Amino acid sequence: MYKKNDIVTIMIEDIGNDGEGIGKADGYILFVKDAVIGDMVEARITKCKKNYGYARVEKVITPSPFRVKPKCPFYRQCGGCQIQALQYEKQLAYKQDKVRADLLRIGGFMADRIDAVMEPIVGMEEPWHYRNKAQYPIGYDREGNLVAGFYAGRTHDIIANTDCPLGPPENKVILEAILSYMRENHVSAYQETSGEGLVRHVLIRTGFFSGEILICLVINGKKLPVEEKLIAKLTELKLDGFWPAEETNPKIARAQKPYRNLPSKRIASISVSINREQTNVIMGKEIRVLWGRGYIEDSLRVPDPIAFSISPLSFYQVNPRQTEKLYGLALEYAELTGRETVWDLYCGIGTISLFMAKKAKKVYGVEVVPQAIEDARENARRNGITNVEFYMGKAEEILPAFYKRDKMFFNGKMDEKNEMDQRHPDVIVVDPPRKGCDEKCLSTMLAMRPDRIVYVSCDSATLARDLKILCEGGYEIKRGRAVDQFGHTCHVEVIIMMQYCGKEKN
Ligand code: SAH
Repeated sequence: MYKKNDIVTIMIEDIGNDGEGIGKADGYILFVKDAVIGDMVEARITKCKKNYGYARVEKVITPSPFRVKPKCPFYRQCGGCQIQALQYEKQLAYKQDKVRADLLRIGGFMADRIDAVMEPIVGMEEPWHYRNKAQYPIGYDREGNLVAGFYAGRTHDIIANTDCPLGPPENKVILEAILSYMRENHVSAYQETSGEGLVRHVLIRTGFFSGEILICLVINGKKLPVEEKLIAKLTELKLDGFWPAEETNPKIARAQKPYRNLPSKRIASISVSINREQTNVIMGKEIRVLWGRGYIEDSLRVPDPIAFSISPLSFYQVNPRQTEKLYGLALEYAELTGRETVWDLYCGIGTISLFMAKKAKKVYGVEVVPQAIEDARENARRNGITNVEFYMGKAEEILPAFYKRDKMFFNGKMDEKNEMDQRHPDVIVVDPPRKGCDEKCLSTMLAMRPDRIVYVSCDSATLARDLKILCEGGYEIKRGRAVDQFGHTCHVEVIIMMQYCGKEKN
């Protein structure tokens, strides 16, 4: 029997759910952090359970043929990436297998059925500098120096790193400017343990198509001291040189053609978000704009561009290049001819809704964040798209209210049969957060029985759980594909198309 701190030499034969290596020591299964499939490693056991244990790599004895040198020097400590040491092609294969395993194990689907419908995963051309959004915690290191960076895996210790290779390189310049404003003006960083200090996080969002930047400081207070000094520092930054990126690296081209002139200094908005709660939630609900217009504009092309306004609190896909491919698939899977009514549940700022609206008769979007709904309506207006309506509220409340012809849904307004029939969905698109769809939402979808359901998911486990319910209710999976939106992490995005086939199982 093994015990904590034992050193074992093992061959890594598989990859776990969180990207860790899996190997066996005399039949005892070990999950080995930072080991790559194909490695022979010397590992130190960190925790023992009856049938399995955890370990970390002490030394790589024979490196795997799939092992590559990680780009980021902090990758082992940082909680952001899990599989940077794994060759990108192999990362894609791992993600495809993970989706397959969840559909098998959680969804209860047959292997041959999964293999018949799932198309090969869509990878990135360039798996670096792909993220348009980063939230950096601000705090102190062990020596008491002010730092910005990322949380170490499973902890809230901050690893000082302003140069994450997943994000745009200009974030470093912006963060350094914020840190120097804080040092010069004795602005404190928030400390989770005591609940004291002011600056908690910095959110930076970049429009990859427009080049615009939004900066939002999350603060544990009403106001920053000498705000004008921060504004001066940030608006004086020279950020033009970083954009458009295709001049320096065609692989990471961020814009074909800006749809409007860039503000010369690129920064479109500086704001603060007030969060005085002792909580893990990063953003506070109240946003105060210090400078600029409070949101950035950006476009996605599927294939023609649609322009979007994006506020600090609104959801926007983090990998714009892959998002264009994902939404392209969503459109293809929806099989629109121009006669359909589409419901887009969990619609965020209306991205999928607006692309669908160009091909459908009418689209209804549902989203719970009020600011996102405002953005969605504004996005429809500015793009001249009129066949779309947005409802604010939870999908699991709005959809049943509509289905039951509840007066609440129509604000007490008329409720004629004809009008209701027109709103009945031919296609329902869902794109829920990681926890998946609420049961009430799924049961209402089944009762409404649209011809097609397109499910976009960022968590294959909850996806598999929900697909099981939908398929037991008479739907059948027709097409599906994973899209890598999050290179070097073990997250994966999946899109599935289901059709009603009437074979209900009980
Ligand atoms: N389809 C959009 C957004 C997907 S993210 C896009 O591709 O950009 C999921 C969205 O669901 C977020 O905007 C979140 O605010 C919203 N959301 C979370 N729970 C919800 C619920 N119960 N009902 C409706 N929307 C919800």
